[in-house]
Amino acid sequence: MPEATVATRASEATSGRTVQQVDVAVVGAGFAGLYLLHRLRKAGFATVVLDEANDVGGTWYWNRYPGARCDIQTVDYSYTFDPELESAWTWSEKYATQPEILRYLGFVADRYDLRRDIRFGTRVKEATWDEAAERWLLATDNGANVSCRFYIMATGCLSAPKPPEIAGVGDFRGEVYFTGRWPHQEVNLVGKRVAVIGTGSSGIQAIPLIAEQAAHLTVFQRTPNFALPAHNGPAPSDRVAMLEGNRAGYREQARWSLAGVPWPQQTAVSWQLSDAERRERFEKAWATGDLVCILTQLWADQGVDVDGNALVAQLIREKIRAIVTDPETAAALSPYDHPFGAKRPCLDTNYYATYNRPNVTLVNLRQEPIKAITAFGITTSKRSFDLDVIVFATGFDAMTGAIMAVHPITGRGGKPLSSVWAEGPQTYLGLTVAGFPNLFMITGPGSPSVLSNMIVSIEQHADWVVDRLTAMREAGFTTIEATERAQAGWAQHMADCSTLTLHRLANTWYTGANVPGKAQGVMPYTGGVGPYRAICNEVASRGLLGFKLTGPNVPEQCNDGEIVRLQPDVRLVLNMLADMKLPEIESLGAAGARAFVTMFNAGRPAGRPVGEVVDGTLPGTDGPLRYRLYRPATAGPHPIVVYFHGGGWVLGDEQSDEPFCRDMCRRSGMIFVSVGYRHAPEHRFPTAAEDGYAATRWVAEHAAELGGTPGPVLVAGWSAGANIAAVTCQLARDRGGPPIAGQLLLCPVTDATFDRRSYIDNATGYFLTRPLMYWFWDLYCSPADRTDPRVSPLRGKLEGLPPAFVVTCEFDPLRDEGVAYAEALRVAGVPVEQLKARGHIHTSFTMVDVVITGVAGRARMADALRRFAGLPQDMGKREGAGSDRNASPPEAIAAAE
Ligand SMILES: Cc1cc2nc3c(=O)[nH]c(=O)nc-3n(C[C@H](O)[C@H](O)[C@H](O)COP(=O)(O)OP(=O)(O)OC[C@H]3O[C@@H](n4cnc5c(N)ncnc54)[C@H](O)[C@@H]3O)c2cc1C
Repeated sequence: MPEATVATRASEATSGRTVQQVDVAVVGAGFAGLYLLHRLRKAGFATVVLDEANDVGGTWYWNRYPGARCDIQTVDYSYTFDPELESAWTWSEKYATQPEILRYLGFVADRYDLRRDIRFGTRVKEATWDEAAERWLLATDNGANVSCRFYIMATGCLSAPKPPEIAGVGDFRGEVYFTGRWPHQEVNLVGKRVAVIGTGSSGIQAIPLIAEQAAHLTVFQRTPNFALPAHNGPAPSDRVAMLEGNRAGYREQARWSLAGVPWPQQTAVSWQLSDAERRERFEKAWATGDLVCILTQLWADQGVDVDGNALVAQLIREKIRAIVTDPETAAALSPYDHPFGAKRPCLDTNYYATYNRPNVTLVNLRQEPIKAITAFGITTSKRSFDLDVIVFATGFDAMTGAIMAVHPITGRGGKPLSSVWAEGPQTYLGLTVAGFPNLFMITGPGSPSVLSNMIVSIEQHADWVVDRLTAMREAGFTTIEATERAQAGWAQHMADCSTLTLHRLANTWYTGANVPGKAQGVMPYTGGVGPYRAICNEVASRGLLGFKLTGPNVPEQCNDGEIVRLQPDVRLVLNMLADMKLPEIESLGAAGARAFVTMFNAGRPAGRPVGEVVDGTLPGTDGPLRYRLYRPATAGPHPIVVYFHGGGWVLGDEQSDEPFCRDMCRRSGMIFVSVGYRHAPEHRFPTAAEDGYAATRWVAEHAAELGGTPGPVLVAGWSAGANIAAVTCQLARDRGGPPIAGQLLLCPVTDATFDRRSYIDNATGYFLTRPLMYWFWDLYCSPADRTDPRVSPLRGKLEGLPPAFVVTCEFDPLRDEGVAYAEALRVAGVPVEQLKARGHIHTSFTMVDVVITGVAGRARMADALRRFAGLPQDMGKREGAGSDRNASPPEAIAAAE
């Protein structure tokens, strides 16, 4: 009998307590629970929804404080699953109030007749997986317990208010309110002395309205927050026009966007814009009154780079100073302790201006912490405040609070979720947990959830879950469970994603820092709504990758594996390139390939400013060679790095690795001289190698003229350029100089052998392909010459070479020959360090400002160069250098002697 034909029914459990039998139990009747119920019912699953609240609404049932509103525009903050529903409801404002949103959810519940399957006033206390019956048993505090095949927690990310951590709350004789549990009856604050503790989103919304009523309002602030004017009013005509012009297209764009709201991707980075241009963009965004706009539309690096972010933060602090008349209050309200956006910024209506009112006092808890709440008010380390009312706007135990409040949730083998999550939430896709079959979480930790327009994320999760349940039923499966491997892979991907954004740099409720004793770590998925959706779709299309499914009459199915092994931004770049359907470079001929590379490079960020860029020529063996010199902005002289660009001995020039040279010049504090060596097929082997050597010699001899430090130079290169750098070191050793202090080899070509594992595994799909490498080799070097150490340095003598830093990337055909070269250097007694970059491809580190996860690796390269040059290390410890999660720890291979 298919599960769906089992009608909701009650039965007597052995304990004598009534047990309600259903296919699916959903906990929570907010946006998520309501949509789930609608879909599950349509799919024919007998479903019950349980909610502690006495009506639908979730967040909007509980948060009734003055000023409570959404802060994603209501045109976006609505269900999108039914176009008829969309046309049946019109929002009255750009940002709807709590009562209006609650009315909307009531309207939805009525329209789809949802209430008849919802048990209100019913809290789920415990949940236990019954292994034999393959069902969850939910213990409730009101009425029948529930036995269900599938247990879906739609319990909300922000639904467990955080209890105040201040001594004496119970002693206070006045009125106490919590923004997250505001009374249903009207609260009269007129003429009263009111305190608000907390300046997160709720506090910032409530404070201006409370100030209008209270005789005096004292705001106790621990951490100032960035707030932006909402400019509320009617829904902006441009957004409405966009939506109404193409509703389906608009919604689809939202689903594939980064934050669940359709705004275009910014490409200009902050340092490409003048001060005036940045200010103009900022003023426009400030006037727009839209969080997603200001978080995404200023410049591309604002959310990923501390410097790009600091520019926005500074402009907002200027606004605060302009609005708040008392400089001391303005200073206290100005956030300096977190990047803008790393903590949830707020939308406000007159928030900062409220502090200009004579009846409002700001208490900076960083300077005078609260000592106690007494019977009559609040005492800080400096003074006492007599109060009639205290409002706690202290936020939520976010993301995990409501899940963990069902305690215990006992999974397979009697294991409680609390022990599995003792070090922080572990999930697969933020939807499931290994060891907890048939349990799903909607917008759980590990999914975009609170970093998105949550309605888009809720609908995506609910659709994904219901589609899986339906497919399982059709295939005869009764259990689904994430595998440990898939879950561990997701944790790694989450960690990789969190190096992309600045959320990791702030102590916030995103990281659990607001709850004492809570495990710390970025909980929401920071890779974006669209990429996340693509991943969930891919899990499904690859035979439910990472899930084990069982059923009574079907063989077990387990397609184990990790869904994302590439670094998140590398994955995005590869997907983007795949969409562009670019021609195969080797099919273009040398001239066509060069034109293609020039065009391709023109579309990338040019690279950050350095002290000076100088073009020149140097005498090569057969005539002048062009070079481009990048000088640091610091006072010289600086050590010199002679750099050889990539391009398979065929493509590129002294400018083609410009962003990399600029970045490394800045990070290392050294001069980079990028050499325009000659190319094949016009100049075949050994021209590139000989040009490289000749150029290095000339640079060493003219170091002082170039502004360099006299003494040994360093060499560096990428790909074929790293081949030239490695060969140059061998030639310099054998030909009596110049002295070389160290070599940085990034994805080097070291050997004309094509049967190593990496050549096979990464033959296609990762930008540098095996066919392309064959083409390069054929153009540069005849088969007879390929064992010559001037093109296969691995075959040369390696003793006596300068210390080396060898970088290899996991998904690169050249990976294993790079690793082999590092090993061989070690055996030859050369001091060598390796950076094996996990999840990276051949082009990762040179795609500066595109592949953000390459930052940490380049910081390590710069450190190595400084070490080779005998410089102190501190310069290289820029952003990302200390948090390198995307590469293996350095394998320091000491010299043999
Ligand atoms: C003041 C405020 C403003 C917000 N504004 C926005 C916004 O502008 N944009 C945005 O994207 N998001 C916003 N959010 C986030 C908001 O939580 C989500 O947008 C959305 O409402 C979440 O819906 P949900 O159904 O997932 O969870 P919720 O709405 O939180 O519903 C969860 C329900 O589960 C019930 N529940 C939990 N545990 C149990 C249990 N053990 N037993 C029984 N019932 C239980 C709760 O009572 C609650 O009713 C805001 C949140 C707050 C607090």
